Amino acid sequence: MIVDAHAHSFPSVRGWLNGKETRSLSYGKVKIGSDYERWFPPSFVNSASPIELLIEYMDWNDISKAIVTQGPMYGFHNDYLVEEQKRHHDRIRIFGILERYTNAQSLDALSNMAQAGMCGLKFELESIISNDTQFRFDSSEVMSVCEQCQASGLSIMVHPVRGEGTEVAIAKVIDTFPRLKIIIAHLGLAPFPGWESKIHLAKRENVFLDCSGLPASFDSDEYPYVQAQGFIKWAVDQVGSEKILWGSDYPALLRWCTYRQTLDIVRSSNVLSDMEKERILGTNAARVFGFL
Ligand SMILES: [Zn+2]
Repeated sequence: MIVDAHAHSFPSVRGWLNGKETRSLSYGKVKIGSDYERWFPPSFVNSASPIELLIEYMDWNDISKAIVTQGPMYGFHNDYLVEEQKRHHDRIRIFGILERYTNAQSLDALSNMAQAGMCGLKFELESIISNDTQFRFDSSEVMSVCEQCQASGLSIMVHPVRGEGTEVAIAKVIDTFPRLKIIIAHLGLAPFPGWESKIHLAKRENVFLDCSGLPASFDSDEYPYVQAQGFIKWAVDQVGSEKILWGSDYPALLRWCTYRQTLDIVRSSNVLSDMEKERILGTNAARVFGFL
């Protein structure tokens, strides 16, 4: 079984990035404030990423299940994704997102997420901090959110910040809530400075890493992404292959490579054993998210 542990789906882009509104344009382009950028291939006619399209990509590449996560740049789509999870419960599980972390509202929203069968809550720290420089992952508000996640069985997926600094706050959350499963996204944002110390956080029992999005980070690396393969192998040697989950970062990743090529970074790797590949491609995610 192959599981994509990091994909994105949204009916349209409707969020923010660096304090500017983001909105779908057409043919893969997105408006950011008064500017625009290409975020997806031109075949994404409405610059949207509906679940039906993700499932077609999954079927095309023999992927059984996907963890659909969210980010402020794409918008806040809990309601859309809850409905889609009801219809496609055998194929997708979702991570919710909060717009604010003030106590009363966020704790209510979390109980709704748990009741709706979401598997966790996503923190896109890089975006959150770009919008609110005072935000701290180990503030009392966020600690209350994490406590509630642990109590209601929700995991946390953390997109960290480039450079050194956030590991201390992440480690505090990890150590305070030993039953809270935490997935650190994008292999700790390898190869940007500080990624190695984020990998080492996964030595703790309740912490895992997803290795999504690597081709976007290695400008000089082309398929078969030998550098990215080496970084995954390094992480395996540090924390063990049972701690790493393959993910794509679909659909943004399709600007750099095909869905199949991002899968082949692990599946066709010359530096991982068959058992390591099997764990990274599906067995670990099945265990972490309770598919087995
Ligand atoms: Zn992502």
